[in-house]
Amino acid sequence: MGILKKILIKKTYVDTLFLQARKIVCHHCNKPFTYIATKKGKATQTSLRFVAPDDGDLEDHMNKHGLRWAKKKKLGEALCPHCKRYQSWMVMKSRLSLLPRCWATMFVFAMIIVSFTIDDRTLTSTLGLAILLGLTTVLAMVLVALLGIRSGVHNERDNRSKDDERLAKLIQECQVSKADPVEVWYFHHMGMELTEADASVSLGFLDLTPGACPA
Ligand SMILES: [Zn+2]
Repeated sequence: MGILKKILIKKTYVDTLFLQARKIVCHHCNKPFTYIATKKGKATQTSLRFVAPDDGDLEDHMNKHGLRWAKKKKLGEALCPHCKRYQSWMVMKSRLSLLPRCWATMFVFAMIIVSFTIDDRTLTSTLGLAILLGLTTVLAMVLVALLGIRSGVHNERDNRSKDDERLAKLIQECQVSKADPVEVWYFHHMGMELTEADASVSLGFLDLTPGACPA
């Protein structure tokens, strides 16, 4: 039965980009804003090998994936359009995501520095190991601070976020043209393209995280 199933049933994988607009209240200036969060995922479609796949199944699967993602807290990053700052959790997330790679890179540099500055006997002792790990961590933290998103006020404009007034304008425009506001925002206002995904799915303003702001 297993072999027959393998012969008859075909699985198709579709790289999907999920788009979602999330409304939050900035914890710096206490004003609300909405930003676009994206997430890459794979949607699978199961079909009979000799029968054309049913697009409805794929859509269902994509939607199921999207719903799971809509429940995840603290996704995406964008500047608050009012005070031009990132939320602290966005800064922290960016730094944590960079830490493993930065640590691995700086371990090599720390090894070189330590091997030139410490004598061989100390180098092979517990103290030598502690110095190596400590130096690696300090260097990694510096690199993370340089490469990650910076806290504090930024001067640049960030198209990933909109205040309520701009958002209302976008929604109004899209009601006239019957377009999806999140797709218009991402592909037209931000000028993004689908490069690493075969399809995009807009979750609109669906934010199922606990305590989410009503859109
Ligand atoms: Zn703010």
